[in-house]
Amino acid sequence: MTNLLWTRNDLRIEDNTALINAIEDSIKYDENLLIIFYIDPNQLKIGQKSHNYFFKSVDNFYNSLQKLGLDMFFLYGDLEKSFKKLIDDFPDISRVYYNCDEVGYGYRRDQKVIALFRDASIKCLGFMDKHLHQAKEIMTTNNTNYKVFTPYYSKWKDRTKNAELILDFSKIKMINYKDHRNKDSYAKGKYLEILKDIKEDFDGFIGEKCAKRILSDFIEERLSEYDKTRDYPYLNSTSHISNFLTTGQLSIRTVYKSVNEAEETQGKEVYKRELAWRDFFNMVFYFYPNQNEEPLNDKYRELNWVNDENYIDAWTKGRTGFPIVDAAMRQLNSEGYIHNRLRMIVASFLVKDLLADWRIGEKYFSDKLIDYDSSSNIGNWQWVASVGFDAVPYFRIFNPISQSIRYDKEGIFIKKYVKELADLPYPYIHQPYKYKDKIKSEFNIDIEKIYPKPLIDHNIQRQKAIELFKYDGGNR
Ligand SMILES: Cc1cc2nc3c(=O)[nH]c(=O)nc-3n(C[C@H](O)[C@H](O)[C@H](O)COP(=O)(O)OP(=O)(O)OC[C@H]3O[C@@H](n4cnc5c(N)ncnc54)[C@H](O)[C@@H]3O)c2cc1C
Repeated sequence: MTNLLWTRNDLRIEDNTALINAIEDSIKYDENLLIIFYIDPNQLKIGQKSHNYFFKSVDNFYNSLQKLGLDMFFLYGDLEKSFKKLIDDFPDISRVYYNCDEVGYGYRRDQKVIALFRDASIKCLGFMDKHLHQAKEIMTTNNTNYKVFTPYYSKWKDRTKNAELILDFSKIKMINYKDHRNKDSYAKGKYLEILKDIKEDFDGFIGEKCAKRILSDFIEERLSEYDKTRDYPYLNSTSHISNFLTTGQLSIRTVYKSVNEAEETQGKEVYKRELAWRDFFNMVFYFYPNQNEEPLNDKYRELNWVNDENYIDAWTKGRTGFPIVDAAMRQLNSEGYIHNRLRMIVASFLVKDLLADWRIGEKYFSDKLIDYDSSSNIGNWQWVASVGFDAVPYFRIFNPISQSIRYDKEGIFIKKYVKELADLPYPYIHQPYKYKDKIKSEFNIDIEKIYPKPLIDHNIQRQKAIELFKYDGGNR
């Protein structure tokens, strides 16, 4: 008999629930183990950094399996056809092991494939591996889902967290996989073609070892001060583990355990709360699966967004004339990552200053972020846009200039990404057009020649945003 392990965004060997169970059962019952990765044509984002990072992470995982003497087959093409072929080619598959996706596209995909396996009398063993607490684990006393974070968090923090699973690596060589080695190699060609087109190597950002090192450096050097420093994008103060969690190169149980073992500090408490937000948004998306399309707050389902194409284009390119926004968007475009504070600033700017639909920003982030996670992205966009549960009130609008001064006073972050402003000191760096004459006389720089004029006047747009929410929200 053969056990099938279907890997996806759980690209690690250590503390991987499905992988460890599949290996242990294969040893226990002396069965074959077949490992697959399905390349979904609908999820390919060729040319995007997020795509490149993901497939480089797949490759790292593939190489780790090879080192252990395990192989991985690649499937590619129509979902149902690909899995039907697999079931036909391997009629002795008796069990399939996978880590569940509880939400979104992954959840819908899994349901289709599970139906095929069940029709073929194959036992499906789905494991909850991605979150500290799965969606239905933390409920109100009336057994309904939480809509507000604070009471959710009170319960979340008191619940026992699962321990890491330990794999006895020495046993792996006992797995009987040999007969599969001679089978047709499926879509390995497609996989190699994808890899061939990726030019970046993401050195220092790939693999389990690297993820663990980044986590332990953070805990040792920055965790205790996290509560005080985490909002300043020019400091290296956050943990930078989101890309590893999204691709599954790092186990969330490992993160929690390592953080929990650190000395008691306010930084540690605040950090654990951030991990709870990740579970909270997963829970919200689970209970509200239309959330990617539909605001959770029904008062704000039909807001009359302006969606000016020129504005949106300038926002995506980092050419709005607001240095903090432009720096962040340029970082997103070049690195596929931005700091949480900056995500809030650019999201608020798109929605409340440019009056563009939050779904446009959510989609743009989904293409660009190497840590893209549908639940966290949608949940945070709805939060910033004031259309979700427990969201920022619509009249509390970030002022991009005050935010810029507060969180990047000397413009250290701005100068890194908006190089044309690199010579400008505080306060000119935050509003170069306001100080254009001084900049000309003191630095002999003609700002109009090197940097775009601000697209909008924040005070005017702020008022328009409030009217937009009041009108639509108040009249329905
Ligand atoms: C508009 C917007 C979109 C976002 N999109 C995503 C996304 O697609 N993927 C993603 O992982 N995070 C997203 N976030 C949350 C947050 O910005 C990132 O998790 C964080 O910046 C990642 O960097 P870090 O690992 O250094 O974070 P740290 O500050 O070190 O936090 C540690 C971990 O806690 C979790 N976390 C922290 N803040 C949040 C939060 N607000 N919501 C949910 N989880 C959180 C993440 O898993 C993060 O890796 C978004 C935030 C905003 C405002």
